[in-house]
Formats: sequence, structure tokens, C-alpha cells
Amino acid sequence: MAASIIDGKAISEKTRDEVLQEATELKARTGIVPHLAAILVGNDPASQVYVRNKERACEKAGLRSTLHRLPETTTQQELLTLIQQLNSDASVHGILVQLPLPKHIDSVTVLDAVHPLKDVDAFHPENVGLMLQGRPRFLPCTPAGVMKMLQVSNVQTAGRHAVVIGRSDIVGKPMAALLMQKGADATVTLCHSRTTDIRRWCLEADILVAAVGIPEFVKGDWVKPGAVVIDVGINRVEDRLVGDVEYSPAAERASMITPVPGGVGPMTIAMLLRNTLTAAKMI
Ligand code: NAP
Repeated sequence: MAASIIDGKAISEKTRDEVLQEATELKARTGIVPHLAAILVGNDPASQVYVRNKERACEKAGLRSTLHRLPETTTQQELLTLIQQLNSDASVHGILVQLPLPKHIDSVTVLDAVHPLKDVDAFHPENVGLMLQGRPRFLPCTPAGVMKMLQVSNVQTAGRHAVVIGRSDIVGKPMAALLMQKGADATVTLCHSRTTDIRRWCLEADILVAAVGIPEFVKGDWVKPGAVVIDVGINRVEDRLVGDVEYSPAAERASMITPVPGGVGPMTIAMLLRNTLTAAKMI
């Protein structure tokens, strides 16, 4: 039987509506309009699209956004100076540094410079630590979006085996952390490029999360019949976007699956809006 589709677009729209409603209430009560400051360095075409989408999403959800565009030649010190200004600007609640940064800039130094209370991407070590301890201030957007999709789709995680492929700081590691937290209670296996026989682990997954960055890396026959498949990957192949999972054969075996596009991607932006609202409520 073919899998049912977890519609990230629909779930994200509902989340955005909730943010709009809460932002409207916050403004009526306090006059505060949650404000996201985005920083884009250079001319990477994909980054420009991502930042534009985030700006539009803010506008629709009743949030203010300001884009700081800096040239490719910006020095690390110039970028750090801008971040310090935004850190001390009381009208700014969230700061987003669009990645990737040009090669001459050290991303870790830059991301560490964002004030932890304005770190709406949840990349700062303080926020990563709080999340790992199960008392999050902000949840990392993509993994939080996945958790929301599982919850809305009534996917039971407790006691089930979740396999995450990928161990990046942005997706894989926090994804595994959220799935194993008390409350989610999955038993988690984390696979990466040095894992031997990934197929075997995939075949044991009740919940399979692919965050590899290789088009159609997970083959359809690696999916355990009845598994829930979450495809985080976004890969441009010629003129179309494909995920990290071989979609059609995987959908034949899975009970639920996320499409690409229209799956995890829209959820990431919705969670960024949620974090910006949370940041504004913290003052
Ligand atoms: P990343 O930083 O490149 O990490 C990829 C991970 O996959 C690494 O941990 C790597 O292992 C692992 N890997 C690479 N080749 C492998 C192999 N042959 N077998 C097993 N594991 C392998 O990528 P990322 O930032 O996590 O992103 C992953 C994908 O998600 C990309 O397609 C990206 O575009 C997409 N993404 C989507 C969203 C969204 O909103 N939907 C958000 C962020 C990212 P090692 O650590 O051993 O190198």
C-alpha cells in the first residue's frame, strides 16, 4: 500500500497562522512587534532565495524583518561589528546569519557572536546545551519542524527505533537529540559517512530521517515496510529539487513519507517564525 503523505506545507501554514495570531495578541497587549534581523553576505543565489522567503514569511505572520545585505568582500570584523550592533539594538529580537558565509569568514566565530537570547536558529553553544539538557530556549528550526510534523501526524515516537542519517550540527545531531529526549522517548541510531552497512540500520528503522545531502541516497528497498520516512534533503538535480530518499519506491513501502519539495522545507521557516516570536516574548 502506498504511504500517506505528511504535508509539510499544510502543517507549516497552520503553524504560521498560530504565530500570526499570537503576534497580533502580543502587539495589542504590549505594542511589541517581533523583529527578525537577517544578514546576507555575498551573492549566493540559493541564499538570496532563502532569505527572501524568510522575509515574506515574516511579513505574512505579522513579524517585522530587516535584511542587512553585505558584499562578498565584507571582512569578518565588519560582520562581527554589525552583529554587536544588532545584539544591543533593543528593537531587534532575533538575528539570523544566512549560511554559507564566504570562505574567508569563520562561521563558528560569527555564530558564537550572536547573543544567545536572539539566537533564533538555536546554533549558539548555550542554546545547544540547553536543548540537550531538555530545557530548550529555542529549538533548532529544521529538527523542530520534523518533530512538529511527527506530532501533528500522530506518529508515536516513544519506544520506537528512529534512525537518523547525518550528524551535522544543524540537522542530524539536534534531530537525534530531540528524538531521544524525555517525552519523545525514541531509541535513536545516528548514522554518518563512516557507518558500515547503512542499509541494515535503515531496514530496522520505525522512523527514518535522512539528512545526508546526496540525492536519492536512501533506496526504496532500505525502507522497513510500514516505516515513517522523513526526507530532510534538498538537492538540486538539473532543474528539479530531489530529496535524500528515492521517493516513489520508498513510498511503496512506508506508511508515511514527506515529499520534496513541500515536506520539511516549509516547516523550517515556520519554526524560525515561532522562535522569533518566542524571543520577542522573552523581553
Ligand atoms: P551536511 O552538513 O553536509 O551533513 C551531511 C551529513 O551526512 C554528514 O554528517 C555526513 O557524514 C553524512 N553523510 C555524507 N555522506 C554520507 C554517506 N555516504 N553515508 C552516510 N552519511 C553520509 O548537511 P546538512 O546541513 O545536515 O544537510 C543535509 C541535507 O538536508 C542537505 O540536502 C540540505 O540541503 C538539507 N537541508 C534541508 C533543510 C530543510 O529545511 N529541509 C535544512 C537544512 C538542510 P560525516 O559527518 O561523516 O561527514
